[in-house]
Amino acid sequence: MLLRRLLRLAPAFLLPKPATASNSTSLPGTRPCDALAAAGLGDILLAPTDSGYEPQMATWWSLNAQLRPWCLVLPRSTAEVSLVLTTLVAAGHGAGSWHIAVRSGGHGWPGSNSVVNGVTIDLSHLNATRYDAAANRARLQPGARWEHAYAALQAQGNVTVAGGRDGGVGVGGFLLGGGISFFSGRHGFGCDSVVNYEVVLADGSVVYANATAHADLWRALKGGAGNFGIVTRYDLQAIPSTPLLYELRYLAANYSSAVVDAVVDYAGRNASYGDDALVTFYSHDVSISPAGDTVIGVIHVNTLGNADSEEIFDGLKELPALVNVTARETMADAAAGSKLPGGTLNAGSTRTFKNNPAILRYCVQLHEQLVASLTQSIGADSFTTLMFLQPIPAYLGRLGPQQLNGGGVANMLGLENMTDGAVIWTGGIGVSTGGEAALAVAQAALNAMSAQVASFAQSVGGLVDLVYLNYADPSQDPLGSYGADNVAFLRRVAAEYDPNGVFQSRVPGGFKISRVG
Ligand SMILES: Cc1cc2nc3c(=O)[nH]c(=O)nc-3n(C[C@H](O)[C@H](O)[C@H](O)COP(=O)(O)OP(=O)(O)OC[C@H]3O[C@@H](n4cnc5c(N)ncnc54)[C@H](O)[C@@H]3O)c2cc1C
Repeated sequence: MLLRRLLRLAPAFLLPKPATASNSTSLPGTRPCDALAAAGLGDILLAPTDSGYEPQMATWWSLNAQLRPWCLVLPRSTAEVSLVLTTLVAAGHGAGSWHIAVRSGGHGWPGSNSVVNGVTIDLSHLNATRYDAAANRARLQPGARWEHAYAALQAQGNVTVAGGRDGGVGVGGFLLGGGISFFSGRHGFGCDSVVNYEVVLADGSVVYANATAHADLWRALKGGAGNFGIVTRYDLQAIPSTPLLYELRYLAANYSSAVVDAVVDYAGRNASYGDDALVTFYSHDVSISPAGDTVIGVIHVNTLGNADSEEIFDGLKELPALVNVTARETMADAAAGSKLPGGTLNAGSTRTFKNNPAILRYCVQLHEQLVASLTQSIGADSFTTLMFLQPIPAYLGRLGPQQLNGGGVANMLGLENMTDGAVIWTGGIGVSTGGEAALAVAQAALNAMSAQVASFAQSVGGLVDLVYLNYADPSQDPLGSYGADNVAFLRRVAAEYDPNGVFQSRVPGGFKISRVG
C-alpha cells in the first residue's frame, strides 16, 4: 500500500488553517505595508516578525515558491480585496523596485504567486463555497482548496463541479489556467463550466463577467490567467454527484508499451467515452522502488460509477499490477485522498503533441535517461519524478460552447480546431536534498528533455502548439501558444479592463500578455 502515497496521502497531510494576523501596533516599516496598515487593514497583515507569518508561508506547495514578501495581506471579503488593491496601487512603486503578487491555493510555480520585494495578496481567507440550488450554481471563492469545495457542495446539494483532481490545489489558479478534471471528457476544461466571474479591477471597481455582461472579460478569463483583475468568485454550473468508479494501478516499467497504447487509444476516442478519464504517470521514487526502477501509475475514473465502461482499459487490467485499488467514492473523497505532498523544491515543464505512439515512447525513453542522469549528478534518493501523459481527445477542445446548456463559449486555449487527439506531457521533479544547486541541475535537465520532446514531435509532424498554462514553467509561453487571434483578443481585453497595465507591470507574476512576443 506504500505506493498509494504518490497520489493518495496519509491523513496526516492536512492543510494548515490560514493564519490570522497579530495585533501588532507597530507599523511594518515598508511603504506599501504601512499604507495597508494606515488604510485600516492592519488586522489582516502578516509581517515576518509576526508568529503567523512562517506557518502561512508553509502553505505554499513548492518550497521554492515560498518567496517571502515584506508582508502578506489576507483579505476576508471582496470589499477588502478592492481596498487592498487600490491602496497598494496608490502607494506608488518608487523606482519600480517593489511589486504585488496574488495567491489562491499556492500550487503555482515560483514567482507566480509571491514576491520577495513587495506584498503578496493571499486569498486564503476568501475560501467559502455555496451551492445555489435554484440556479444549480456552485459559487466558489478563489482561496478554497478543491477538497473543501467538493465537500461543501456534497453536503449542501449532493452536487459537484468540473474542478481539480488533487484536493490541495486552489480553485483560483486552476480555473484561470483552464483546468483538467475527471469530468473534462464530458464538461471540457474547468473554465468551460464557469457561468460568471466576480472580478476586482485595478481601479477597485467590482464587475460581474458572464454571457450577458462583460462577455469579453468572461471569455478572456477562461484560460487568460491573472491579466485583468483579481477574481473573487467563480460561479460554476453544478453536476449531480454520483459516486465515481476510481481505479488506480501501479505497473512495472516493462509494461510501458501497453500503457502507451492505452493512452493513444483513449486520445483517439469520441465523446461516447466522455464519462471516462485516464491519467498515467511514470515515476522515479526510491521510497517506492528502492532499486530505483521506474513505476507506472494508471488511474481510470468513470464519473458515473459505471463498471461496464472498463472495456477501453481491458488491455491494462490483464497486466500484473504491483498495486491495485478500486473504490467507489464521491469526488469529494477522491480529491481528499489525492493530495500530492508539497515541501520539496520543484521543477516542471509541459508540451502537447499528437497521439502518436512514437512520440510517447520517445518520452518514456527520455524519462529513463533523465533519471539516469540525475541519479549520477545529484543522487538517486535526492529526487523524485512524475512524468504525466494525459490524453486529450480532439472533441474535448470543442466542448466549451456546448457547456452551460449550449450557452458556453470557446475558451482561450485554442483547441477548438484540433482534428487529432492530443497528449499533454508534463515533467515534474521534486528535489529533497542538495538544495537550490540540485534544483538548478534538475530544472536544466528537465528543460533539455522538454526541448527534445518538442523537437522530436516536430520532426514527425506531431507537435501541437498548446503549452498548457497550469503546468507551464516560467521559461515557457503558454499565452503565446493560444494562437494569434486569441493573443490579440487577450491584449484587447487586458487593455480595456486594466488601461494602466497594473496587472502587467505592478503584478508581474504568472504569465502576462504584455510579455508575449
Ligand atoms: C500537486 C498538483 C496537482 C495539480 N493537479 C492539476 C490538475 O489535476 N489539473 C490541472 O489542470 N492542473 C493541475 N495542477 C496545476 C494547477 O492547476 C496550477 O498550478 C494552478 O495555478 C494552481 O492554482 P492555485 O490557486 O493553487 O495556485 P496559485 O499559485 O495560488 O495561483 C496560480 C496563479 O494564478 C494567479 N491567481 C490565483 N488566484 C487568482 C485570482 N483569484 N485572481 C487573479 N489571479 C489569480 C496567481 O497570481 C498565480 O499566478 C496541479 C498542480 C499541482 C502542484
